[in-house]
Amino acid sequence: MARRPYVIDELISAKAIAARVEALAKEIEIAFAGTDKLIVVGLLRGSFVFIADLVRELELPVEVDFLEASSYGNEMTSSREVRILKDLRGEIGGRDVLVVEDIVDTGFTLKHVIGLLESRGPRRLETIALLDKPSRREVDIKATWTGFEIPDAFVVGYGIDYAQRNRNLPYIGSVRFTE
Ligand code: 5GP
Repeated sequence: MARRPYVIDELISAKAIAARVEALAKEIEIAFAGTDKLIVVGLLRGSFVFIADLVRELELPVEVDFLEASSYGNEMTSSREVRILKDLRGEIGGRDVLVVEDIVDTGFTLKHVIGLLESRGPRRLETIALLDKPSRREVDIKATWTGFEIPDAFVVGYGIDYAQRNRNLPYIGSVRFTE
């Protein structure tokens, strides 16, 4: 996909993200205290940096698995259809599961993934989203934990891309087109 000329304005600094991830990990530890195994499920690809930082803050026995769902493609509009491109490697029946999402936008992706994973009979299933755009919501869904609520902007960085670029930025920025 061709990228239009743009600049990135910092929205959330690397330091603010690190502090929030640490605080969220503490809440998750309390919520899942005593678990024999927490399966942390990252939704690819946007959550890979968040999940890496989050699990390293968690003082719980954890396993990590990944799921890839498509709802966005390369266009800057959400398609309403959610498809599973890559399923989990492991079983989650009877287990404690934490689904890690980068951004909850319209909510279609998270709702679909929750429905799919609930049908496999986990003991407990919770969700965490680094970013939430409540003004964009089209289905009634909210992650158990949210890192930051943000306005309706197209964001990149900390794992999140614009046409596959900028995932390596250590901060979250909003894309501003210059032409
Ligand atoms: P939803 O199904 O909630 O509308 O879409 C969620 C997915 O859309 C996110 O996991 C993410 O991949 C993508 N998305 C939503 N907002 C943005 C954004 O601002 N930037 C990028 N790069 N992806 C976004």
